[in-house]
Amino acid sequence: MTYRVTLVPGDGIGPEVTSAAREVAEATGVDFDWEVVQAGEQAIRATGNPLPDTVLESIRRNHLALKGPITTPIGSGFRSVNVALRQQLDLYASVRPARAIAGEGTRFPETDLIVVREATEGLYSGVEHWVDREHTAAETVAVITRKASDRIIRFAFELARRQRRKHVTAVHKANIMKTTGGLFQTAFREMAAKYPDIASDERLIDNMCMQLAKKPEEYDVLVTTNLFGDILSDLAAGLAGGLGVAPGALYGEGMAVFEPVHGSAPKYAGLDKADPAAEILCVELLLRHVGEHEAADRVFRAVWETIAEKKFVTYDLALPGYTLRPVAPSSCSAMAAEIARKVPIVDIESPLPRPPPIAVGTDLHLEA
Ligand code: NAD
Repeated sequence: MTYRVTLVPGDGIGPEVTSAAREVAEATGVDFDWEVVQAGEQAIRATGNPLPDTVLESIRRNHLALKGPITTPIGSGFRSVNVALRQQLDLYASVRPARAIAGEGTRFPETDLIVVREATEGLYSGVEHWVDREHTAAETVAVITRKASDRIIRFAFELARRQRRKHVTAVHKANIMKTTGGLFQTAFREMAAKYPDIASDERLIDNMCMQLAKKPEEYDVLVTTNLFGDILSDLAAGLAGGLGVAPGALYGEGMAVFEPVHGSAPKYAGLDKADPAAEILCVELLLRHVGEHEAADRVFRAVWETIAEKKFVTYDLALPGYTLRPVAPSSCSAMAAEIARKVPIVDIESPLPRPPPIAVGTDLHLEA
C-alpha cells in the first residue's frame, strides 16, 4: 500500500528536520508518496499568504501530514499558522508523549507521560482586542465550550484505555477562572465517571508544574486546555530530555498531522545542527497511526540505539543534561543518516528498558 502524505517543510530548521524524517521514513521500506506544500515564510514569499488553501486542501485530501515547525511573528504580524491550521481543520487533539529516550544524564529518565491538549479554543481562540484607542489596555478571551471539553476529555480517557495506562489527570485553574475552568472541571468529572477502570484526579496548573518538576514519574496522561497544554508539553519535553526528542500529533475527524513539539529554532536554520529526532519520531507516530507497527518499531529502535551509542548525536544530546559523558556533536544530516542506516537492521525483538511507544488510531475520533 502507498501512503500519500502531505509534507509541510516549514520554517527555520523545518526543512532540515523534515528532510531527515523523510529519509528515515523511506528507509522503512513503507511506500510513501509525498505531496510537498509550503506554509509559513516560504508561502508568504510565493503567494502572500502564510497558509494557502492548497495546504488545507492537501491535508483534507490525504488525511495525513508530516509537518515541520512554522515561525510566528511575536507581538504583531500575521496570525499563527499553527493555530489557524488546527482551527480550520478542526485538529482538536494535540497529543504529546514525553518519553525519556536512552539518556542516562536526563534529569528524569523515568518520565513517560502524555499531554493531551485541546487545540482549537481556549486562550488561543484568536478573540483579542484593544480596550481603548490609546492602546493602554487589551483583552484576550478564553473560549471554553462543553462540546470541545467533552471531546478532548473523552479522547484522553480513550487514549489511556487503548494504551493500558492507568491514570488521567485534568489540569485547570478552576479556583480563579471559575466559569471557563469550572466548565472544564465539570466536564472532566462527568466523563471520568464513565471510565471507572481508569483512575482520575485534578491539579491546578501552578501545582501541576511544581509536581512535574519534582516527580514526573507519578503522572500518566494529562488532559488540559490549549494554553496550559502548550506550556506543559514543553515542560514535559524538558523533563524527558529536551525539545530535540519530543514528537507530537494532532488529530481531527479522519485526519492526523504529525509535528514536533519544538518550534523553528531560527538561530540554527541552515546550519545542519538541529536535532532531527523529534521530527523522525513523528514518523514513528504516523506509522503507528496507519497500522505499520513493525516499521514504527524499527524507527523507534533506530532512534533509541543511535542516541544510546552517542556516535552520531546532535549537540543537545552530546552535552551534560542529556548524557553523563559529553561527546563530540554530530550534524543533523549525519544523525539522520545513521538512524536511516539502522532502520532495516535493528533487532526489534530484544526488550527495551522503557514501555512501548504511543499508538493512536483513527477510531479515537469520537463525537462529543
Ligand atoms: P523553539 O522550540 O524553536 O526553540 C526553543 C529552544 O530549543 C531554542 O534554544 C532552540 O534552539 C532549541 N531547539 C528547538 N528545536 C530544536 C531541535 N530540533 N534541535 C536542537 N535544539 C532545538 O521555540 P521558540 O524559540 O520559542 O520559537 C521559535 C519559533 O517557532 C517562533 O516563531 C514560534 O512561534 C515557533 N513555534 C512553532 C511551533 C510549531 O510550528 N508547531 C511550535 C513552537 C514554536
